[in-house]
Amino acid sequence: MTSPPIPGKRKTKWPVAVLGATGAVGQMFVRLLVDHPWFEIVELAASERSAGKKYSDATRWLEGAPPPTAIQNRRVIACDPGVISAPIVFSALDAVVAGEVEMAFAKAGKFVLSNAKNFRMEPDVPLVIPEVNGDHLALIECQRNRRGWSGAIVTNANCSATVAAVALAPLHQKFGIRQLFLSTMQAVSGAGYPGVPSLDILGNVIPYIADEEPKLEREVLKLLGTYADGEVTSAGFKVSAHTNRVPVEHGHTICMTIGFEDKPSPEAAIETMRSWEGLASTAGLPTRPKHPLVVSDAPDRPQPRRDVNAGDGMTVTVGRVRRDAILDLRLVALGHNMIRGAAGGSVLNAELLASTGGLDPT
Ligand code: NAP
Repeated sequence: MTSPPIPGKRKTKWPVAVLGATGAVGQMFVRLLVDHPWFEIVELAASERSAGKKYSDATRWLEGAPPPTAIQNRRVIACDPGVISAPIVFSALDAVVAGEVEMAFAKAGKFVLSNAKNFRMEPDVPLVIPEVNGDHLALIECQRNRRGWSGAIVTNANCSATVAAVALAPLHQKFGIRQLFLSTMQAVSGAGYPGVPSLDILGNVIPYIADEEPKLEREVLKLLGTYADGEVTSAGFKVSAHTNRVPVEHGHTICMTIGFEDKPSPEAAIETMRSWEGLASTAGLPTRPKHPLVVSDAPDRPQPRRDVNAGDGMTVTVGRVRRDAILDLRLVALGHNMIRGAAGGSVLNAELLASTGGLDPT
């Protein structure tokens, strides 16, 4: 398949840097960006512990083919906007440092595509899944005006909030969600590397992930909110989340029970999800899957082992759509936490911006 040409008048790829390149999400960025048709990695950055080392020495490569030699031999540099030349930075930084560092990059005029939680709920910062709410990127202009910087921060959501919002977007748009109850089974890779100690998680379920439930509850509402006149109004329905860590490598599975304003039958809900294609302006973007949302008819799907890599990790798979005796419908959704829920989501945000001129210098 031929790659879509670089948008606009550019003749060369956009130079990009990865902050937190040595971590689990940072490595996924490197995997997704090494052969990207529009972006080229020019810098890899991490903590002072890694700075100065060759990328291959600073990184315990977690999976897939190791990156090309030119990337492996690159020296890791510090996350310093005075040192990094790339105008676009993908951030996979630990939340403990992401706030200060990402702000410094935006102040220095850089475009920051962040995976961290720090800025997601700021009213002037877009929290975006392109197919669901790509129009929220209009907040960038308000952000620049309000903060007086030429850079920008655009965030993607918590990995479980992303999976839930992709599954729920078509249903909320058509039937109006009134109440939502969710219970997650989240993969260990969601905790980064080395993450959860093996003796805590093997053969076990941990019914607590620090700060995860409030993040999931508020981010789903912002993602499904509406943009008008320079602000996003979060969706107004009630949400209750349980989050659990389970011994699965990749893929967050979420059981959801949903109450609606206009109560759909399971068949109508399935038809609505199957016919949903997401925001039209995302069609043809390099990382966008053909189908952002797939509904399985099998009684025992989705399963992480079988469905997590659907659409190269960018498709959310839904199954078991059925009536509920307390609210209206029940279903199960699954998505790849490291790809759709992290690095792939950020890359798709950047592609949407690139295709609409949003990455061009102001
Ligand atoms: P991780 O494996 O622990 O990696 C953290 C990265 O941050 C490493 O590259 C580390 O560099 C860097 N770092 C730590 N302290 C630093 C400092 N003081 N200055 C500069 N860099 C520093 O974590 P992860 O799972 O990749 O997560 C990265 C971010 O993405 C987090 O904010 C996380 O919440 C978010 N996220 C993760 C997922 C997921 O599924 N894993 C999904 C969505 C969002 P060194 O190697 O040099 O220490």
